[in-house]
Amino acid sequence: MRTYNSLQDIQKDIREGKTSCAQLVDFYISNIRQKAYLNAFLEVFEEEAREKAFIIDQKITSGQAGRLAGMVIGIKDVLCYENHALQCSSMILDGFNSQFTATCIERLIREDAIILGRTNCDEFAMGSSNENSAFGPVRNEIDPDRVPGGSSGGSAVAVQADLCLAALGTDTGGSVRQPAAFCGVIGLKPTYSRISRYGLTAYASSFDTLGILSRSIEDSALLLEIMSGKDEFDSTVSRQRVPPYLQNLAFDKKIRVACIRETLEDPRIDTEIRQATSNVLQFLEEDGHVVEEVSFPMLDYILPTYYILTTAEASSNLSRYDGVKYGFRSPNTTDMESMYKKSRTEGFGEEVKRRILLGTFVLSASYYDAYYTKAQKVRQLIKKHTLDIFKKFDFIVLPTTPTTAFKLGEVKNPLDMYFADLLTVQASVAGNPSISIPISLDGRGLPIGFQIMADYFEEEKLLAFANYLLRDSGINHQI
Ligand code: GLN
Repeated sequence: MRTYNSLQDIQKDIREGKTSCAQLVDFYISNIRQKAYLNAFLEVFEEEAREKAFIIDQKITSGQAGRLAGMVIGIKDVLCYENHALQCSSMILDGFNSQFTATCIERLIREDAIILGRTNCDEFAMGSSNENSAFGPVRNEIDPDRVPGGSSGGSAVAVQADLCLAALGTDTGGSVRQPAAFCGVIGLKPTYSRISRYGLTAYASSFDTLGILSRSIEDSALLLEIMSGKDEFDSTVSRQRVPPYLQNLAFDKKIRVACIRETLEDPRIDTEIRQATSNVLQFLEEDGHVVEEVSFPMLDYILPTYYILTTAEASSNLSRYDGVKYGFRSPNTTDMESMYKKSRTEGFGEEVKRRILLGTFVLSASYYDAYYTKAQKVRQLIKKHTLDIFKKFDFIVLPTTPTTAFKLGEVKNPLDMYFADLLTVQASVAGNPSISIPISLDGRGLPIGFQIMADYFEEEKLLAFANYLLRDSGINHQI
C-alpha cells in the first residue's frame, strides 16, 4: 500500500474502492511489526482496531460514516481511554487502566477515527529526547541511532514511519513541536485551553496543551476542529467559537512577520538551522510580505521561568501517585511511611524525581518568593512582550529547535537537555498557538523545523499560513 499523506487522499481512495479501513489498519499494523525496533508504540489495540475498521467500512457503504472515517490514529500514553491501560511511560502506573475517556479521544471516536494504540513518550511527558521512558527510548527512523525528540517521540515517529496517519501528543514546553521538527513532520500546539484537558494526565496544568502530529496541514486542521471547544468536564477550556479550520485554509493576504533577532544571531543555534530559517524569511520577502527583525531580550529568561513553574506544578500534580490507591506499590515496605517512600522511589524514573524535588524546593516556604513568585511575575512579562509583538505583526517566526536530532545518549547533562526547549517555551509560557513545519534538511539529512507562532486563538490564520508555506515556497521537506 502507498504512503498516505492526508485523510483526504485516503477518503478519495476509499470512495474509488482502492482501499478500505480494514486494509489501512492491516497495513499500519504490519508496519508497526516490521519497525518494532523504533519502539514507537507501547501497545497496539489490534483486534479492536480491526473490528472498528469493519464497522466503519460498513458505515461508509451505507453513507453514514463520520468525518474521520479512514483516519487511523495513535494516542500518546498520557491520555485516558476507558478500559485501556494508561502508564505515562512510567512504572508508577503499572497495571493502571483508565476509567473514562479523554474528551479529545471521545470526539475523535464519535467521528469514526480508529484508535490504533498507545504511543511511547518520556515519563509523564518530561523530556526532550524520549530517553526517559520506562519502556526504553524511541528511535528516529531517519537514523535509528538518533533520538526522535520528546516528549511525544513515539507519536512523532508513528507519523514519520507510517505507522498511523496522525497521532495525538501533548505540548507543555515543546513536546509536540520539537519531536515534529526532529522527525520531519508537522506538529501543532494550539492556544492553551483550545482543546479540553479532561483525560490528559496533568504534568504542569497551566501549560499542558493537547497537540497534533500529522503529515498534512489539512489533517491538523480537521483534527483540531473536531477536538476543540467547550467541554462540561473541563472548566478551564475556552468557550470561544471553533471555526471551520479545514474549510478556511486558503491564504492570499500579504502579512507582517516578526522574526526574533536573538534567535537568528545566537551562536548556540546550529548555523544550518539559522540559514534555513533565513531562507524562508527571504522567500517571504520576495513574495511581498513584510519581514522585520524584533528584539526579544527576555529570551534567556524563558527557559528558567518554564522550568521553575512547571516543576512546581509537577511536584503538586504528581503527589497523587503514592502507591495507595492505584498503580505500583513497592513490595518492600514495612510501614506506611516506607510504603510511600519506597513506592515513589522505585516507581518514578530519575528525571521525574529530579523535577519533583526541584518543584518542591521552589515551592518551599523559604524559597517561594525568590523562585516561584518571581517566575510568575516573569511569566507575565514574557506574555506582555509577546502580545506587544502581535499588536504589530501577524506572526512570530523562529526555528523550532537549536539543533537537529542528536544521538541517543549524547546529551547527558539535564541542563543541556533542557536547552533543547529554548525556542519552543515562549509559546508555552505565553500560551500562544504555534506550529512546527519541516522546511529543510541539514548536511546529514536530518530534518529542520520552522516554527510559526500566532496570537491567541488565531489557529485559523496560522494553519492557512503554514499551508501556504508548505505548498508554495518549495521548502517542504516532509519525509
Ligand atoms: N522538554 C520539555 C520538558 O521536559 C517539554 C515537555 C513537554 O512539552 N511535555 O518539560
